[in-house]
Amino acid sequence: MTTPAFDDGTPARAIVDLDAIRDNVSALRDHAPSADLMAVVKADGYGHGMLPAARAALAGGAHWLGVATAEEALALRAGLGPDVPVLVWLLTPGAPFAELIAAGVDVTVAAPWALDEVAAGARAAGRVARVHVKVDTGLSRNGVAMGDLPRVARRAAGLESSGEIHVVGVFSHLACADEPGHPSIDRQAAAFDAALEEMAGAGLRPEVRHLANSAATLTLPGLHYDLVRPGISVYGNSPGPLLGPPGRYGLRPAMTFEARLANVKHVAAGEGVSYGHLYTTTQDTTVGLVPVGYGDGVPRHGSGGAAGPGGPVAVGADGSGRVLRVAGRVCMDQFVLDLGPGAAERAGDVVTLFGASDGVAHGAPLPNAQDWADAAGTISYEIVTRLAPRVPRTYVGTAGSDTTDRTTEGEAQQ
Ligand SMILES: *Cc1c(COP(=O)(O)O)cnc(C)c1O
Repeated sequence: MTTPAFDDGTPARAIVDLDAIRDNVSALRDHAPSADLMAVVKADGYGHGMLPAARAALAGGAHWLGVATAEEALALRAGLGPDVPVLVWLLTPGAPFAELIAAGVDVTVAAPWALDEVAAGARAAGRVARVHVKVDTGLSRNGVAMGDLPRVARRAAGLESSGEIHVVGVFSHLACADEPGHPSIDRQAAAFDAALEEMAGAGLRPEVRHLANSAATLTLPGLHYDLVRPGISVYGNSPGPLLGPPGRYGLRPAMTFEARLANVKHVAAGEGVSYGHLYTTTQDTTVGLVPVGYGDGVPRHGSGGAAGPGGPVAVGADGSGRVLRVAGRVCMDQFVLDLGPGAAERAGDVVTLFGASDGVAHGAPLPNAQDWADAAGTISYEIVTRLAPRVPRTYVGTAGSDTTDRTTEGEAQQ
């Protein structure tokens, strides 16, 4: 894998390593050898680009793709053709059920209202709707309440007999899988088993039962059932600090976010830096201006000053391996680093906010998205997913590029 030169005058870029996504999916399949794998590519593939991420995940052996919204599901169909099983799970009354069903997308019934709309959609599409029933086993978010499940199951069985729907799957989602030993995990698993019995009692025989997100895929083999649904780990990030760094699981972060210094200059001791003067220089020093801010998805909570250290940035493309922390406020378009007295950096030098690393919290020389999450009081999911459209994505690696439409694109460019 070669990374294209970063010298075209753009301030910043996100490099997405498609081979990392492929290899992560392959590693995840090894973690769940008895189950099929649904790669979750919602929210533009957690910020990595939905279609490229989906193709790379398929190249790694993903059997299914999962998304949140109808628009995402239809875009997958348009980009990848009719053959890949796609599940969409977050639908609102009035969603384009007929269009989804006509496109062969598996739709989720997560509330009683959805059965009526699915049945109507199936009639309009002239096609049997493929349905997964989502059950709320204790997350208290989306999903059919356990108390409503008996009537939803009976109604679904009726619609199956009359040929409008086919119940392909039953699933649920865990609240605390990233907290090993959390008592809710066993409670949710028991509730899921009860839901499966309820479905069976109504005469439904779903082929795929699925419960595991990334954390459960990596650490709870008893909950893999027929299909696992990892998201964040597909992109090479650990689900959270309690599970340790990605390398522990054979994963590597697929996204590198880097920028080029726009200004390097001397600032005297005792000067306030950036909005609000949150940070004050303690000596005559050199500051470097990094031309990305919250308009690019750098969290403002990653600001650094007296109240706490800012987000980490690796400087010194020559491998000198210095990691500095944001000095002062993260602004909309920029933030400052205190490079120290006599710093050798020059305007145009590349700095890395996060990349393919286990993170500085684990002693690695390069920060990762979890390090930024730690600094900003959030999770790595938000760091990568909120990277703004303003940051161009540069794709490296070949995984997924042999699918028909990518080949066509490549040929068109020649
Ligand atoms: C987002 C999502 C996932 C993936 O979760 P990760 O923690 O990213 O692995 C799986 N299932 C559902 C229903 C989701 O909404």
